Amino acid sequence: MKQKRYFLSEQDIPSCWYNVMADMPVKPQPMLDPATREPVTVESLSVLFSEECARQELNMTERWIEIPQEVREKYTYYRSTPLVRAYGLEEALGTKARIYFKNESVSPIGSHKLNSALAQAYYCKAEGATNVTTETGAGQWGAALSYASKVFGLEAAVYQVKVSYEQKPYRRSVMQVFGAVVTPSPSMSTRAGKDILTRTPNHQGSLGTAISEAVELARMTPGCKYALGSVMNHVTLHQTVIGLEAEKQMEMAGDYPDIVIGCFGGGSNFGGISFPFMRHNFSGERNTRFIAAEPAACPKLTKGRFEYDFGDEAGYTPLLPMFTLGHDFQPSNIHAGGLRYHGAGTVVSQLMKDGWVEAVDIEQKESFEAGCLFAKAEGIIPAPESCHAIAATIREAMKCNETGEEKVILFNLSGHGLIDMTAYDQFLAGNVH
Ligand SMILES: *Cc1c(COP(=O)(O)O)cnc(C)c1O
Repeated sequence: MKQKRYFLSEQDIPSCWYNVMADMPVKPQPMLDPATREPVTVESLSVLFSEECARQELNMTERWIEIPQEVREKYTYYRSTPLVRAYGLEEALGTKARIYFKNESVSPIGSHKLNSALAQAYYCKAEGATNVTTETGAGQWGAALSYASKVFGLEAAVYQVKVSYEQKPYRRSVMQVFGAVVTPSPSMSTRAGKDILTRTPNHQGSLGTAISEAVELARMTPGCKYALGSVMNHVTLHQTVIGLEAEKQMEMAGDYPDIVIGCFGGGSNFGGISFPFMRHNFSGERNTRFIAAEPAACPKLTKGRFEYDFGDEAGYTPLLPMFTLGHDFQPSNIHAGGLRYHGAGTVVSQLMKDGWVEAVDIEQKESFEAGCLFAKAEGIIPAPESCHAIAATIREAMKCNETGEEKVILFNLSGHGLIDMTAYDQFLAGNVH
């Protein structure tokens, strides 16, 4: 069967992002300042983040937020991304379900993360910043922000968890190719890093240490802003370009999804593909199911508790009302580094609480089996994170086979796995359980 791909012409690339908070029947509870326990404000958030991102973070009223022309122009370098009818996967599964995927792996850095990095870098530049800083684990977010910073003429400083910096050199190289300064964390370049290294000279680093260093750099450096790649509302807002495109492309295909699936780390690609479709559930026109696929090693939605918790290990971020495993939860060292996050963000958490979202957890082995099946059938090696969405899709397609239903399933392929081949090596060698 021929693979069928749908693209949008340039003028049909969305000109606005969709702000789901405007339509949520129950709004998320406020984020609280960790020091005062008062709700955060645009002023307090914009100490660290760009002011426009701070405004977007708290905007519960405007449904459509215009994509700046400069950002939309950069989107056209790789957007629209293809919507693909996965005939090969359907055939491999022997299913009557119609399976589609949105391929975000075609971005210059190989994942959806660039959709928000471009927006955040643009706002920083437009507001007069010269530098931007962030933390990264496996390196996908760092790579996206490094490229976006180059595009808009900012200097990027990325703190990468030391163990990843040493064990996963290729994304570090990607960041360096784009001109970012990459520092393994903990480092001697910040007070926070020095304190950690004084206490624990051999510290291997964690997202917590890297966040502490990036936040300190942003606070201490004039003209330097901080950017985050997931969890926050403004990040997911930027990712809605995925679902808005997919909605138009599904229309071209003459279908509408019964089920939408995304893998779930902090929720940005899941929200990005889901929220534009969910607005038709809110209005009562549709009854689509939305399934977040999380790793069994880090199951905040299926096994976490809904409570106020920090967004980071170090306790620097606002307190967020969300499903969480606790900010000091240490997930085992699974290959899907982008899914090793303890909390679910405020919007998805509220939607989950109110029954608009479902979640499943997937064991690592099942995710790689799904990824290899998909690769053989469709010719794309998926990121270990994306494999979780594929596994959840396969589960739903197999259910259709049992019931004889012909459901339409749409999942987001959040990234490719070509820089994650050591993970596949280990799976193929039988070392992933
Ligand atoms: C970072 C990442 C994720 C997880 O982050 P979300 O914010 O939950 O989308 C998933 N897939 C890929 C390829 C990633 O880089």
